[in-house]
Amino acid sequence: MGFIKGLKCRECAREYPVEPIYVCEFCFGPLEVAYDYETISAAITTEEIEGRPKNLWRYREFLPIDGKPYVGLNTGYTPLIKTENLARVLGMRNLYIKDDSVVYPSLSFKDRVVSIALTKAKEFDFDTVACASTGNLAHSVSANGAVSGFNRFIFIPASLEASKIIASLVYEPNLIAVDGNYDEVNRLCSEVANKYKWAFVNINIRPFYAEGSKTLGFEVIEQLGWKAPDNVVVPCASGSLLTKIWKSFTEFKETGLIQDLDTKVFAAQAAGCSPITQAIQQGTDLIKPVKPDTIAKSLAIGNPADGFYASRVVADTGGYGEDVTDQEIIDAMKLLARTEGIFAETAGGVTLAATRKLVESGKIGRDEVTVVCITGNGLKTQEALQSHVISPHYIKPNIASFEEALEKINT
Ligand SMILES: *Cc1c(COP(=O)(O)O)cnc(C)c1O
Ligand SMILES: [Zn+2]
Repeated sequence: MGFIKGLKCRECAREYPVEPIYVCEFCFGPLEVAYDYETISAAITTEEIEGRPKNLWRYREFLPIDGKPYVGLNTGYTPLIKTENLARVLGMRNLYIKDDSVVYPSLSFKDRVVSIALTKAKEFDFDTVACASTGNLAHSVSANGAVSGFNRFIFIPASLEASKIIASLVYEPNLIAVDGNYDEVNRLCSEVANKYKWAFVNINIRPFYAEGSKTLGFEVIEQLGWKAPDNVVVPCASGSLLTKIWKSFTEFKETGLIQDLDTKVFAAQAAGCSPITQAIQQGTDLIKPVKPDTIAKSLAIGNPADGFYASRVVADTGGYGEDVTDQEIIDAMKLLARTEGIFAETAGGVTLAATRKLVESGKIGRDEVTVVCITGNGLKTQEALQSHVISPHYIKPNIASFEEALEKINT
């Protein structure tokens, strides 16, 4: 379509053609898709975008495909909710939830990245797609890969939530459950990717895959009436989503779709796996790998590939990083459910609990327009709440038994 200049090394800026490659041959820096913003700027307006179907391809000029979208025609354009009850509890006045717990079809923001990755895999003529996953990517590649007719090899840590494993298995991929944590799975997958000609969505297709995360940021701006928020709070695993949300904001500025950009970007992690937020708090961009131990398994990456870039975005925009305990995660999941009716997964608990702390410490102003990114659905991590929810009232199937229970409820 003429909007893509090629791939470009994030470190030395050396340019590469559009191919399934991901590291710079000269400095080993990661490759990123580069666009011709002048051409994009001349080609679209906000009105034009508004007239398009409500899926993530409405921002297609900013996405790295050459032909027609192949996957994801029903993906994206999730609700941006202005909260009332939750805002009141947190003492805020402009608190929004970007609700990616309802992305089609697999109920996490990973459907965004997978839509781009599989469309690109098709353009590159791969017949097998693969991934290293902390759970949601496994689900999304299994689902989207099934419909679009790919062979699928899905690598996960064997210790994932049972519900996420079943959610992947129902699509009958080749599910490889590795006796090890995500970082070990990922290392193994890099080896496999070197040996087999597969499209590993988050390894050799990563530069394209990662661009899909931008659509969350584009939607936030459009849904705020073509304005960037004052603050955005983003959960971090590898750190990619955070850097891409920021990239989306800068691209809308660069192409004149918004006039002002003064957003602070905040990172949220679980205390049991916080290499990025720890670095931010210590004022360094040196990421010290950790061994994850948290209920927020979708965020449990101890050696985050984009941690360095994520911490830089946070520092450059004047944001901050906050991490939260497993108990704080559970409390925040329940708070979000009870106030806004949204059942988020553990990662959502991380983001909301972190937001709460950022407000209490004054890092986020109570009147500022703040967007909290909820990235996955609670139905997929139910076991985290097992002993943390109230009990049903057990009764016999007769009115006397019901009224006995009612009496207890009312006293
Ligand atoms: C994968 C994932 C993230 C973060 O992904 P990055 O690797 O940081 O891009 C956030 N939330 C959920 C629910 C996820 O599955
Ligand atoms: Zn380089």
